[in-house]
Amino acid sequence: MPGEPQEDGRIVVVGASLAGLRAAEALREEGFTGSLTVVGDEPCPPYDRPPLSKQVLLGRAAADSTGLPMRRDPDADWRLGVRATGLDPLGKRVLLADGDSLPYDRLLIATGTRARPWPNPEEASLDGVCTLRTREDAGALAERLAAGPERVLVIGGGFTGSEIASACRERGLDVTVAERGVAPLVGALGGTLAKLAAVMHRNHGVDLRCGVTVTALHGDGDGRFTGADLSDGSRVDADVCVVALGAVRNVEWLAESGLAAGPRGIACDAGCRAFTRYGIVTDDVFVAGDVSRFPHPLFGYQMLSLEHWGNAVEQAGIAAHNMVCPGPLRRPHLAVPTFWSTQFGLNIKSVGVPMYSDHIVIAQGSLEARRLAVVYGYRGRVTAAVTVDMAKSLDYYRHLIETAAAFPPPPGAADRALAADVPIPSDVPDPKGLSHGPTVTLTGHLPDRRLTVVAPTG
Ligand code: FAD
Repeated sequence: MPGEPQEDGRIVVVGASLAGLRAAEALREEGFTGSLTVVGDEPCPPYDRPPLSKQVLLGRAAADSTGLPMRRDPDADWRLGVRATGLDPLGKRVLLADGDSLPYDRLLIATGTRARPWPNPEEASLDGVCTLRTREDAGALAERLAAGPERVLVIGGGFTGSEIASACRERGLDVTVAERGVAPLVGALGGTLAKLAAVMHRNHGVDLRCGVTVTALHGDGDGRFTGADLSDGSRVDADVCVVALGAVRNVEWLAESGLAAGPRGIACDAGCRAFTRYGIVTDDVFVAGDVSRFPHPLFGYQMLSLEHWGNAVEQAGIAAHNMVCPGPLRRPHLAVPTFWSTQFGLNIKSVGVPMYSDHIVIAQGSLEARRLAVVYGYRGRVTAAVTVDMAKSLDYYRHLIETAAAFPPPPGAADRALAADVPIPSDVPDPKGLSHGPTVTLTGHLPDRRLTVVAPTG
């Protein structure tokens, strides 16, 4: 009945990782008593990915030791190791690769992303060419690093590529990073902090090559990777190559579903309800985590695609609440995006959307000290902040973002006396010119491409 909580029925969650697990737990916490099925194509229970590029590559944790702790038993039927291959929205069924199909009353899609592969399949299949997204990937790469390769080539200087390079140097391995943009992390943090990132790479002994693309990977007669050609005519000899070119959204299984699912993710409203490809909101299909695109009022109501741990957790909780609650009690997903990374001994934390900016100001600390808070502004409003080894200030800046405070920010944070006051351009490049995918993407205002011709249904 409209207005009544929907605490029974059948809920299917597709994607058994961070967002899927947290949503399943939250559904029970919200009072859902019906049948709950969680489908995941990986064979293992949900695990955490951030340690894979950090502790696991350093050999400090085993790849299979990052299982996600359960807040409570979600009392779910786990269908692990089986892929969802299709969705019949009219018959309300999820089709599975094993031929089975699962009926649902409400569906949550949390299929996340996968690593973008090297575009040449033959070169990608060379022994020694890897990507990093799953625990298997991390275990295999950690083994290769532990074997002491002569040199590792990392293609892409985003967060993942930079963390891999950092782990290599900590292990004493020679490493080359090739990045098409002007500096590592420039797509995520803009020009000023990217310059610091480049200094950190070089000071730690990384052979950093920016403004270049990798044009070909080479192997020996046994199919083992031996090196790569770069667009500047140089060659890098290496025996391991990690392709860190960003992520691809897992949406192909929805191609025939009629949902607004595309390369940038599945569009949903602020309440996590999926849009159809005509921009009509559904009421039984919800989306959460890295696979989603959702509008955010703080960033011009543009649709955001995030690859952030915290977003997957927050959005899963909101989706679960809204799947159980009647309309007027539903909540919007308005959390301010947050992200962290550890690399080259620095703790980098971000709130807001740094690329939604025209200027920055160093509000605390300094680049020389390698301890600072950079505040980002867009048209006179604070839209993001990034701290380097200064995480305590983050809540203060989050508040400024949430309240759309004037940029540059007013005095108030602890050691502002040290700060440069003059805003400078944020130098956020067009992501098309980068090797690494940024972990936040503003994807415009439309739920999907503009479709005005309605296909016949039936
Ligand atoms: P995912 O974790 O991608 O899970 C989706 C799941 O769905 C996967 O198990 C996938 O196999 C499964 N699936 C896909 N398609 C299907 C299908 N058709 N049928 C069934 N199952 C399917 N974030 C941070 O904020 N800080 C960090 O420091 C950080 N470090 C990271 C380091 C690495 C190496 C990686 C890979 C990610 C890192 N992240 C970090 C990002 C963070 O891990 C993600 O934001 C988070 O995992 C998103 O969770 P999710 O559940 O939405 O998606």
